[in-house]
Amino acid sequence: MSKTSVDVCSDDRLTNNNIMNTYNRKSIVFKKGKGIWLIDDKENVYMDFVSGVAVNCLGHSHPVFVEKMKNQIENLTHVSNLYWTDEQLELGENLCSLSGLDSAFFCNSGTEAVETAFKLARKHGSIVNKKGKKNKIIVLENAFHGRTMGALSLTWNSKYKVPYEPLVENVVTTPLNDLSKLEAVVDDSVCAIIIEPIQGEGGIYKASKSFLEKASALALKYNALLVFDEVQCGIGRTGNMFAYQHYGIVPDILCLAKGLGAGMPIGAVLTNKRADVFEPGDHGSTFGGNPLASKAGITVLSIVGQNTFLNDVKTTSEYLISGLKKIDVKYNYLTEVRGAGLMLGIETKFKASQLIEKAMKEKLLLIAAGEKTIRLLPPLVITVSEIDLFLSKFEEIIKSLNEE
Ligand SMILES: *Cc1c(COP(=O)(O)O)cnc(C)c1O
Repeated sequence: MSKTSVDVCSDDRLTNNNIMNTYNRKSIVFKKGKGIWLIDDKENVYMDFVSGVAVNCLGHSHPVFVEKMKNQIENLTHVSNLYWTDEQLELGENLCSLSGLDSAFFCNSGTEAVETAFKLARKHGSIVNKKGKKNKIIVLENAFHGRTMGALSLTWNSKYKVPYEPLVENVVTTPLNDLSKLEAVVDDSVCAIIIEPIQGEGGIYKASKSFLEKASALALKYNALLVFDEVQCGIGRTGNMFAYQHYGIVPDILCLAKGLGAGMPIGAVLTNKRADVFEPGDHGSTFGGNPLASKAGITVLSIVGQNTFLNDVKTTSEYLISGLKKIDVKYNYLTEVRGAGLMLGIETKFKASQLIEKAMKEKLLLIAAGEKTIRLLPPLVITVSEIDLFLSKFEEIIKSLNEE
């Protein structure tokens, strides 16, 4: 193992422990967080541009969030979904009024939200076509929908899939933003088309308006369901509460998770009346939407849902993009900036891994999306002056990479 200043691993636990080897983890142990900053066990302070991968939308230890969580845990943490709670009812109402959809199901993660959408789509298909012939799902190249067997079947990267085959059948892949290829694969046998309006893991690729319009029209024509996976791009990340609001196209099913709980595990699936086909016994989740997780969601929506908050996301985004471009004038490093709001992909002439490594040494946390793309996912609460701090760190990194 190569040893750099941040990589020094005096702590034997990091190489010899009881945790499964599912991540290429950096050798840092975090102890505390405040706003956009994370502090490790050696008191090093890192700027967090990963946000738990688009989770910590309120930054770390947001005072309102902390207060609400403390109060909730003193009152009620969990009861079975055999009973009602005010918190789950309120979160359902808030999500439906914000989205214009009608019903919510709560789970604990993004992949479970996708599984739920998958089951809804198959059940809807079985109702529409009693002969059981409406079960094909259309997915996109570069899509990422999760790691459980169903969601994995809908995910593009074969590296994630091959060892687990056979996966769920009747999934057909088509390229993003290719209207005629989409049209060619959709017919009466299709029960759903699933799309990330902005692809996250796959490289921050945005669906075009005409592509989403085509998908919506085809879903309607063939009585299939249009599913948007906004697990990463939802909840204010793009400067609107939901990414589909940039396009004016409302899906039949919306999958949410990451930012919804600001760090408390919660996922949600929202549907319109057409897609709301579950009956008691069809689906469930022990923890899904428990009062603690629901309270986290209520708190996030009450903060992120303010117009001033979303406008600030748009402002900081523009400021960040223009700063990145100014650095490009000096160092000519940028190939492309993609995305929206504070979900930006910057493709550079450097390998993403090389840039991330260098940033680590400068105490800046970054994450990749593909070979050459760095994903910027700062907490949504980031201020313009904090963006300035980021830009000066980032300029140093680019400057020294250029000199190598
Ligand atoms: C992260 C992600 C998922 C999976 O979410 P988990 O909570 O990790 O299961 C699904 N879809 C998209 C678009 C994601 O970004």
